[in-house]
Amino acid sequence: MSLLQQNYQNVSLEIQRVCRRVGRDPRTVRVIAVTKYVDIPTAEEALDLGIEHLGESRVQEAMRKWDQLGERGTWHFIGHLQRNKVKEVLARFQYIHSLDRFSLAEEIQKRAERVNKVIPCFVQINVAQEEQKHGLLRSEVEDFVRQVSTFSHLKLVGLMTMAPYTEEAEETRPVFQELKRIQRQIQKWDLTAAPVPHLSMGMSRDYQVAIEEGATWIRLGSTLVGRTQE
Ligand SMILES: *Cc1c(COP(=O)(O)O)cnc(C)c1O
Repeated sequence: MSLLQQNYQNVSLEIQRVCRRVGRDPRTVRVIAVTKYVDIPTAEEALDLGIEHLGESRVQEAMRKWDQLGERGTWHFIGHLQRNKVKEVLARFQYIHSLDRFSLAEEIQKRAERVNKVIPCFVQINVAQEEQKHGLLRSEVEDFVRQVSTFSHLKLVGLMTMAPYTEEAEETRPVFQELKRIQRQIQKWDLTAAPVPHLSMGMSRDYQVAIEEGATWIRLGSTLVGRTQE
């Protein structure tokens, strides 16, 4: 068994174990293999193993992989997105997890309209208010969501966050709980273009906690596909 195969098996068992503990159906937790640290053959191996969802955070790097593997799998853009890269991203990725500002939403709307697509996006929220991280602050969420939900070519399918780096995964729990609370609040507004059923949260270090707190998409790099390049 290859290392990737072993990792995938471990992760799958772990998802089942955590779900059983909290009474969730494991099929409601979907895995994105974050391939930003690995080469094309490894990304290809992930697809061969039946991992359908790939996540990339840099446009250049993603395009290299996409040229080889693009027809297979579903692509998730998870990194900071510059407006001048939106066109390239929309041509290749099915989901954007890093919608973090109004000017980006406007650009996505403009480009999506031209290609006649409705783009499923996750609103990235900087729950822990970390200086160095992207994402909306809690106080900005309402205006942002209400405005963007009037756009015809974007659909807000969920919220995304990255928890602060900690040695103890348990310390990330309040961040995930807060994202869940924000989701409930948005859902109360009952906006057609912002149903936000999904929570994209949990990475290699903290995905078990994220699942316990309601993650429906987890984004796994190092613990799943490994880390062979920076
Ligand atoms: C790199 C990255 C991940 C995966 O990181 P790991 O800790 O290696 O699992 C997940 N989400 C985002 C936004 C990332 O940039």
